Amino acid sequence: MLIRHSHTDADTADLTGWFTHDLVIDGVSRAASTQERFDVINPATGETIASVASATVDDALSAVRAAERALPIWSARAPRERAEILRKTFELMQERSEDLARLIVLENGKSLADARGEIAYAAEFFRWYSEEAVRLLGSMQVSPNGQNRILVTHQPIGVSVLVTPWNFPAAMATRKIGPALAAGCTVILKPASDTPLTALAIGQLLSDAGVPAGVVNILPSRKSGTVVGAMLDDPAVRKLSFTGSTEVGRILLATASATVVNCSMELGGNAPFLVFADADMDAAIDGAMLAKMRNGGEACTAANRFYVHSSVASEFSRRLSERMSALSVGDGLEESVNLGPLINEDARTKVHSLVSAAVASGATALNGGAPDNGVGFFYPATVLVDVAPDSPILDEEIFGPVAPVVTFETDDEAVRFANNTEFGLVAYVYTSDLAHGLAISQRLETGMVGLNRGLVSDPAAPFGGFKQSGIGREGGHEGMLEFTESQYIAVSW
Ligand code: NAD
Repeated sequence: MLIRHSHTDADTADLTGWFTHDLVIDGVSRAASTQERFDVINPATGETIASVASATVDDALSAVRAAERALPIWSARAPRERAEILRKTFELMQERSEDLARLIVLENGKSLADARGEIAYAAEFFRWYSEEAVRLLGSMQVSPNGQNRILVTHQPIGVSVLVTPWNFPAAMATRKIGPALAAGCTVILKPASDTPLTALAIGQLLSDAGVPAGVVNILPSRKSGTVVGAMLDDPAVRKLSFTGSTEVGRILLATASATVVNCSMELGGNAPFLVFADADMDAAIDGAMLAKMRNGGEACTAANRFYVHSSVASEFSRRLSERMSALSVGDGLEESVNLGPLINEDARTKVHSLVSAAVASGATALNGGAPDNGVGFFYPATVLVDVAPDSPILDEEIFGPVAPVVTFETDDEAVRFANNTEFGLVAYVYTSDLAHGLAISQRLETGMVGLNRGLVSDPAAPFGGFKQSGIGREGGHEGMLEFTESQYIAVSW
């Protein structure tokens, strides 16, 4: 039974009416050069909630010129001044956190609890990078021959194009804007077409906090490929920071190669969740719920494959299924809802086709397993057992509330299963023996490991993947270095 929320047009107008739905270029909001617009849909109801300007190549190049003009002024501002503007943005985000959370629910569908969590996480990037802005340390060393000095400084890399996905419409934007502005760069943000409103709202807060015109330009567009491609071809653009699928990441790396644009890529994941025989089962179930169900499974860090020691697998699957079945599904704007809709119909079709293929090759759904048809793009929480090791559901990002469980016998088998993927973003390990957990963690080919933890995201930590999950790191001190170039000055004195 889906829980519905009775929206009124006035509620929607309140949530979406305090920021522009046009492009933001050089501090001014304006329609697209062709006047084109596109609709933003509430995935819980299928209703249109706003119509947003769709940037063209001309608009994109205007934004690049604005960012280029603003660059020398912004990069010359004292780090302390940049820091204080970022700090102010953090405070404004906190003040408006409830409005922002509801806005995320409206355009993305996630539960209010998840949206509130996202806003808290997203705002922290402004606080963290307000603190980092004044700590861009260089170095000085004596060369080995003792004759020369090696002086290294970090300079802002320049105009940066930021491209973000729909699954964390606030956090993926602030995780890029925060460090870019701290380092002294100016940016053009291309938010995902499914969720452009949150980015435009954050743009309003940045402007209210005192970010000068041209420093943050925001370009929703239905023509992502041509618009981003044209910016990457412009010689003023020195950086691409992309978060999204590996498929699109590969295309953008190829495009960026023509002008040798520096790229940071946060791409897809296929996280294994390993439960060893000695795991604390209560903790493992709590961790599994978090790692699988945050954002309804629509997270790059979502546990995608559960590998459980055969001695505890049936208990794990049964208890996970009980917890998943107890979730209330419906419109995320209702406080009691824990699981909202998927982002769109294509997403639901993809999730169901992976589940159907797994079931056709022998898997059993302990709960869920069939889409909720009707209004909204809902899919029930599903636990699959007896999943064939070559099932496509273990190779692809599910991006939905589905947990396939596979058993293992030995450590070597668990590690082999976990590493058997082109992805390498994150893995989760549950064991009561910390030394064993650390030893297993070091054998996993992933940029991040949750060791007895179902959540790794932290603005102070370097987030990123091995293998085809990406290049570079976001968050932490590393996240700001991604927006700098090192300059080495050879000196003798
Ligand atoms: P996507 O790759 O379809 O889109 C990401 C962004 O790229 C959007 O803004 C989209 O409009 C734009 N885009 C699409 N095609 C483009 C093109 N040809 N040229 C330029 N831009 C283009 O991804 P999505 O569906 O929005 O997000 C889900 C994906 O993002 C998943 O694969 C998920 O794992 C990944 N993700 C990764 C991280 C991470 O930190 N590693 C975080 C969140 C999401």
